[in-house]
Amino acid sequence: MTRVVLASNNPGKLKEFSASLAAAGIDMLAQGALGVAEADEPFNTFIENALAKARHASQITGLPALADDSGLCVQALGGAPGVHSARYAALADGTRSDAANNARLVADMAAHTDRRGCYVAVLVYVRRADDPRPIVVEGIWDGEILDQPRGSNGFGYDPYFYLPDLGMTAAELPLEQKNQLSHRARALRALLQAVRSEYAAPTH
Ligand code: IMP
Repeated sequence: MTRVVLASNNPGKLKEFSASLAAAGIDMLAQGALGVAEADEPFNTFIENALAKARHASQITGLPALADDSGLCVQALGGAPGVHSARYAALADGTRSDAANNARLVADMAAHTDRRGCYVAVLVYVRRADDPRPIVVEGIWDGEILDQPRGSNGFGYDPYFYLPDLGMTAAELPLEQKNQLSHRARALRALLQAVRSEYAAPTH
């Protein structure tokens, strides 16, 4: 097994990422267990933040590292909340909660008829901190933004994230189905494919 540090301390992510990447012979360790503090995420793009987090974890541990950055991007809002998804309301009035973020989203969308949005997950894998060609993958999950919540599963913006093909919000989907369809699941499948070829035995 190749030991890889996950640049996150979120237990849900550790579980989801470990389960998926075990198939590629990867043993994921949470950065907190290796004494790595959270890195700053000062950038305006998912990729830059994920890269900064992966490099930071790899620098300190000397191990390959995996980092993710995710959020909701809404077309009519120029891609907002984007990298600020977790603290969207806090940017306006200091409050930080899913309910406050959703209230701001609904208010910002009130005047818009274009309801398109997507969840985005970017994963970055570095073999070492100064890796000249990190593996970068992106998962996109397209939907539409509602003005009334529906469903109680999931988290974050899920009650407002409507999937027209399914006729449900992400918060109405059973968790197992969300975990198959989500932006994170799509990114993880792409990463699995990329690291599998990375660790495949040479053919000559
Ligand atoms: P992080 O990348 O885990 O920090 O997530 C950033 C933020 O994006 C979260 O706090 C949520 O607001 C939003 N987000 C990311 N993925 C999801 C999801 O699957 N459902 C709902 N909100 C999400």
